[in-house]
Amino acid sequence: MSDWHHLSSQEALAAVASNAQGLDLAEAAKRLAQDGPNQLNPPNRRSALVKFLLQFHNVLIYVLLASAGVTAILAHWVDTSVIVGVVVINAIIGFIQEGKAEKAMDAIRRMSSPEATVLREGKRGVIATEALVLGDIVLLQSGDKVPADLRLINVKNLRIEEAALTGESTAVEKNIIAVDAQAALGDRFSMAYSGTLVVYGQGAGVVVATADKTEIGRISVMLDNVQTLTTPLLRQMEVFGYWLTIAILALSAITFLYGWLVHQFNIGDMFIAAVSMAVAAIPEGLPAVLTITLAFGVQRMAKRSAIIRRLPAVEALGSVTVICTDKTGTLTRNEMTVQRVLTSDQVFEVSGDGYAPHGGFSIDGKETDIIEHVASLDIFRAGLLCNDAALHETAGLWDIAGDPTEGALITLAMKAGLDPVFEHESLPRTDLIPFESEHRFMATLHHNHAGHAFIFVKGAAEQILGMCNRQRSLGEDVPLKLSQWHMKLKETGALGQRVLALAMKSMEGGQRELHYADTQGEFTLLGMVGITDPPREEAIVAVRNCRAAGISVKMITGDHAETARSIATLLGIGNGRTLTGSELDALDETALRQAVRDVGVFARASPEHKLRLVTALQANGEIIAMTGDGVNDAPALKRADIGIAMGMKGTEVAKEAAEIVLADDNFATIVHAVKEGRTVYDNIRKAIVFIMPTNGGEAGMVLFAIMFGMTLPITPVQILWVNMVTAVTLSLALSYEKSEPGVMQRPPRAANEAILSGFMIWRIAFVSLLLSTGSIALFLWESARGVGIDESRTAAINALVVGEMAYLFNCRYMLAPIRTWQDFTGNSSVLLTIAILAVIQGLFTYLPFMQGMFGVAAIDASVWGRIIGFGILLFIVVEVEKKFVLRILKK
Ligand code: ATP
Repeated sequence: MSDWHHLSSQEALAAVASNAQGLDLAEAAKRLAQDGPNQLNPPNRRSALVKFLLQFHNVLIYVLLASAGVTAILAHWVDTSVIVGVVVINAIIGFIQEGKAEKAMDAIRRMSSPEATVLREGKRGVIATEALVLGDIVLLQSGDKVPADLRLINVKNLRIEEAALTGESTAVEKNIIAVDAQAALGDRFSMAYSGTLVVYGQGAGVVVATADKTEIGRISVMLDNVQTLTTPLLRQMEVFGYWLTIAILALSAITFLYGWLVHQFNIGDMFIAAVSMAVAAIPEGLPAVLTITLAFGVQRMAKRSAIIRRLPAVEALGSVTVICTDKTGTLTRNEMTVQRVLTSDQVFEVSGDGYAPHGGFSIDGKETDIIEHVASLDIFRAGLLCNDAALHETAGLWDIAGDPTEGALITLAMKAGLDPVFEHESLPRTDLIPFESEHRFMATLHHNHAGHAFIFVKGAAEQILGMCNRQRSLGEDVPLKLSQWHMKLKETGALGQRVLALAMKSMEGGQRELHYADTQGEFTLLGMVGITDPPREEAIVAVRNCRAAGISVKMITGDHAETARSIATLLGIGNGRTLTGSELDALDETALRQAVRDVGVFARASPEHKLRLVTALQANGEIIAMTGDGVNDAPALKRADIGIAMGMKGTEVAKEAAEIVLADDNFATIVHAVKEGRTVYDNIRKAIVFIMPTNGGEAGMVLFAIMFGMTLPITPVQILWVNMVTAVTLSLALSYEKSEPGVMQRPPRAANEAILSGFMIWRIAFVSLLLSTGSIALFLWESARGVGIDESRTAAINALVVGEMAYLFNCRYMLAPIRTWQDFTGNSSVLLTIAILAVIQGLFTYLPFMQGMFGVAAIDASVWGRIIGFGILLFIVVEVEKKFVLRILKK
């Protein structure tokens, strides 16, 4: 059945055996068991075999396989089998690590799985999208992602953007009228299709298809594009690997020709030398280490509530220079309490904390019984009725479901003695215009039992004042005294309170629908309320940390300028200057670019302003992280370098547009994520700076031997052994490295900075030289003592490995000195991998089977003494080098 759009709503409901009240729970459970979860089949994941084979698809590995070919032709079977063995082991390790990384990413993706609002047994509830079944009634509102294919049964200005399905990005206005059976997908106005986005209005529909039977499931487009574990930086590394391979091949060729032509060595020996060169210089473990470092970083961020949706964000985080953040709920706690009620005649202070409806009213510090001010009761009533939140008590604790601003108004009305159930029954709601941040008000239409109609509105004070021409004073409607209210508004705002105004008007009794035009004018202002929403303690600290880290914080809020300024001062944001949305509108691009440099607070700003602000900041060369939650924030989130959506109060549309979702909506989490982002980048650089000298050192040894026409101090299989054991042990330890102490005290990294800085190239070359010099020296020392070639080589290999162990400590901090005990022991994985490697090297040196395979021999304690001495020396030399480099960098 696919003609749902052609049926009437009633026919569709009947066809899936449902009704407007929704299914009962038992029936829903039965259908779920029968039809399975509403979930698209996972995208065509590559099979394990293909994934394994892909591990070999890498130029570096090709060179190794070619080397194996060369050794096979020369009948050096041990070399061939070891090279092939290493390639296979490397592939297995890569395969396992990639699997782990993928699992971590899946777990993170599941953390932000979407939910749907449904009607079951006549009651609203929120369930996981997967639990939806045929016949469920789904309620849609702006910002939602449609969770299944729905035949609409009622709509209120419902507009849906169907680009995921039709490619058309302008939203389509929906209605409930059946359309022609032949209508194209984009013209089926009576349907809401899974995966499309509600950008305006509200609606309800009955589920007519789930999972793979939905239109989107049928065309098998994956909504959540599968993440590939890569980022610009890793791609940069891939390109680097490619060029490195070419350089290595050239070097091998030169080595070969030089030995053959200059020294007239045997051609077979020179082949082996060239192969040694190639296998020495190839950092085959590097790609896997980089991937795993990235995945660990993402996992660490998820543990601290920052869910990465797109991997490149991890890197971009490290170069953020400006964070643009919302105020309510992100910087503040979003725990609203009305503390002031302002009517034409009185200013009441309200006592009591939180949502518990316990507290009283006072005027000028003197308690008063609110019943004596009956004339004021309509303001409380308006707050209670023009409201979609619900207040509930469990075990003496009061909490709300819905918007905290509205929750605060219910609490207020109850403190004033109104009974929510009674009020809703005596003035039932007939229609509403929901709150949207563009128009900054909400309106509801009510009818009393005598058939009289009233509209209640509440919203941003300026907005409501613009609708009113009268005000309520001692029970009478008198002309509005605008200037008086503006003063009150400013005063209350300066206390850091959010000000909401409330108004009402009477309507023709016959009117059952509320239109936008009905809200324009002729209202009577009932009064205003001042609501506190204290800043989050951790946000104050986080703002301070941003300052130290060279990141400026801008607050962009829909709230009034005075309120915004006062809260910003508490948080330490900006310099007291604020700009409002309308002032912003008056600026041209150049003036705006100037303004965004020094203004820290933008008030009464709408989502379009956010977009303009990001654009202007980017034109100034800044890298922007921008938060958002609403549908209309999506363009700004997409435009920002890093879009950050709120996990709790954010809409699905905002989450789709964002790179990061904050599970706890907390500003401090962004700053933690920035710190992690910097750390991941540091760790990737550390891994490179750590791994490459092993290759450089080995290549240096081979080069030296050929230049001076001496026996190779290390053979190809021995080289591979060293590469393999250090890559799977030591270099992984750096992936677990915590942030360096000063990460948040240095300025952001330049976005276009190359991954390999001049300093890193220097460090790699310097340590390569130290490693090869030390290993050759020990090799020559042993040879001079007259021991066999195998013993001498064993000394050289162990010198290389011990040198790397020592260098691992240097690498914990790129430039900062390693001095204290904590610097040595702070990362337990460093110690663990060193211990493991020590055992492995022991087995390698003394096990007869290993000796036979790798051509090594037992060495005595005095040799170990020299080797360890070399390790310590290398560590000290690198620490001295750090001092010099720091001095040069400071100049
Ligand atoms: P942010 O700092 O995240 O932008 P905000 O709440 O200040 O948060 P909006 O949500 O856009 O910004 O709200 C703008 C204004 O609209 C508020 O200052 C308030 O006056 C008014 N307002 C907020 N919530 C409601 C509501 N539920 N009903 C009516 N008016 C509201």
